[in-house]
Amino acid sequence: MLEALQSPAQTTYWLISGRVLFPLLNLIGLACFAYIVTWRLTPLIQGERDFRFDRPFIRLERLLQFWLGQWKHPRYRVAGTIHILIFAGFILLATRAFSLLILGISENFALPDSASGVGRVYEIVADYAATIVFLCMVIAAVRRIVFKPARYEVPARYGKSHKVDAIFLLALIAFLMLSESLFEASKAASLTQQGQPEFLATFSLAWILQNALSSVSQSKLWDLHRSAYLLDVLTFYFLLCYRPFGIQFHVETSLFNVYFAKLDRGTVKPVRWGVSDEHLDQVKSFGVKKFEDFTWKHMLDFYSCADCGRCSDNCPANAAGRPLSPRFLTIKARDYSFQHYPMFGSPSDGTPLIGSIYSEDEIWSCTTCGACEEECPLMIEYIDKIVDLRRGLVDDGNVPKSIQKALKALESRGNPYGKMEKKKADWIKDKEFQPTCEVKVLDGKKTADTLYFVDSITSYDDRMQAIGRATAKILDHVGENFGILGAAEKDSGHEVRRFGEETLFMALRDHNVEAIKASGVQRIVTADPHAYNALKHDYKDVPPVEHISQVIAREVKSGNIKLNPVENADDVYTYHDPCYLGRHNQVYDDPRDVLDAIPGLKRVEMSRCRDRSFCCGGGGLMLFYEPKEEQRMGVKRVQMAAEAGANVIVTACPFCMVNMEDAIKVAGMEGKMTAIDLTELVDKHIARETKKTERAEQFAESAKCLTV
Ligand code: SF4
Ligand code: SF4
Repeated sequence: MLEALQSPAQTTYWLISGRVLFPLLNLIGLACFAYIVTWRLTPLIQGERDFRFDRPFIRLERLLQFWLGQWKHPRYRVAGTIHILIFAGFILLATRAFSLLILGISENFALPDSASGVGRVYEIVADYAATIVFLCMVIAAVRRIVFKPARYEVPARYGKSHKVDAIFLLALIAFLMLSESLFEASKAASLTQQGQPEFLATFSLAWILQNALSSVSQSKLWDLHRSAYLLDVLTFYFLLCYRPFGIQFHVETSLFNVYFAKLDRGTVKPVRWGVSDEHLDQVKSFGVKKFEDFTWKHMLDFYSCADCGRCSDNCPANAAGRPLSPRFLTIKARDYSFQHYPMFGSPSDGTPLIGSIYSEDEIWSCTTCGACEEECPLMIEYIDKIVDLRRGLVDDGNVPKSIQKALKALESRGNPYGKMEKKKADWIKDKEFQPTCEVKVLDGKKTADTLYFVDSITSYDDRMQAIGRATAKILDHVGENFGILGAAEKDSGHEVRRFGEETLFMALRDHNVEAIKASGVQRIVTADPHAYNALKHDYKDVPPVEHISQVIAREVKSGNIKLNPVENADDVYTYHDPCYLGRHNQVYDDPRDVLDAIPGLKRVEMSRCRDRSFCCGGGGLMLFYEPKEEQRMGVKRVQMAAEAGANVIVTACPFCMVNMEDAIKVAGMEGKMTAIDLTELVDKHIARETKKTERAEQFAESAKCLTV
């Protein structure tokens, strides 16, 4: 009896020997899983190419950090902690799960050997792991049913609630933990009754069950033991084969998804991987129009989504009531793939995605702010997919009218406003500014070490020209030998590219690269984070680029810029991180360091700051697009600043400035809230006299040396 109880392989179930039943169940379970996964891989094989096999060591490092280390999960404290515990439990229980399956084939199999010290320790750890996973399932189910976190809800326009499926899966995992523990507990209770007490981890689920079964007869314990084993095997394989039909597929795919995740921030994928710009004319269709136009990695993203809702919870477009929720971009594509690549039957008919699962408004609503990608614990990508879908729309001529006008102006004049090229440098001719600061136009006759790349909005918008002048004055103050391209500078094309107009972007980029090279400059400075991102990531073979906030921070640190105290000590400042300076390029500290260097300046942080910054509404062509929305993103942002107790919002981006100033008016907060660019604030506070005195002192010092 004792021997038989130790291994299910030695018993019979409905007259079928365990030695036949369990190998058969293992075979059927694994065959079903292999069949399902093979079918799931079919669209990936049909998908577009995606080069994700480079930099293996960096990928491995990120795998350790984001997958094994669950790095992003604590950003949501409760759910994150629950997930980390479940994940750790699964990792720890993997060996036991394998042992249990083999036990049905080979009696007394245990990995590690249960007679060894390591084996005994492992059993205790596994008992606790199963208990923790079980409890986490209960807590997660209670959260879903009782507390109902808003981010799990499914708005009616996105289909029906996923709650039942989620709870069913939680229940299945809890049942697996229960059956596993019951298997252990019944054995331990039986052995204890026979005078061979077996130690189970105190207060673990198995221990509690063992105590509950202490007075149960041997025959009943045996029935429980073998039934628990059978149920465990059946639940295990059911779960394994059920997971690829829903959100739990991420258990299998997440490791690969994180390993192959995008490595380079701020970049946009090429139109076709492996096709150079020179050969783009050979590409018949641009972008994503049907499901198979997505790359295999983007399809893997769809499978890997855990439906946790963090992306949409942080998406400003979703918060503003635009028809966009990144979570559902993924869920809808996954549902589409399940429907069009069924387990039995013929695969996809190549249905166009726009109009069937996505709407045009949905795709144009994204500001490419990157909040969704920053938040996703599974490193799922959105910007590249959205840009690819836009490329498809542009290729088919489906561009909103307001954007069409701006694109045409960019094509003919090199700026979205359709203004004359020769007026590009008019901002330096301002009567008050010109006598204070000389700005060279690098037209071939004049040269400089540094190029100030101004970009369209700062060059042409009356209000934003003040940022240009402040930037120039700062560069002049620190003694930078700089100039601008003037009429030779076209729009950086940053937003053009992100709006899916790759060919126009390439034309703008090539023109600017030529002009930059011809100017002979050694480095580039810009006050526009969009231009900064374009020059840094979208352009090739141009000198190194810095954002002005980086220059100012360095000069403040070196003492080359000294700042006067704030005029009104009652003002409370807050810094708004522009998406393309913060999230996309990780410049968070420099602007804050500059603010903190202004004596007497009181600074507070908004609840959403740094990598969780809330997009102001987007820049570039976003200014020409009027999406359907309930509330402007900028208004929400201004309200966040007010909630933080600030009355001055400092930005470091001309587009943020447009959106903020506009939002202050819309929110009726004029007089209570103001917005200012970092360059304007610094220019206002630079201690110019001190600088002059210092220069004079330096001059006197060197003159003394000469006399001696
Ligand atoms: S990039 Fe920003 S706006 Fe676009 S889907 Fe992601 S969070 Fe939303
Ligand atoms: S994409 Fe990522 S963040 Fe969004 S629901 Fe899926 S797993 Fe969660």
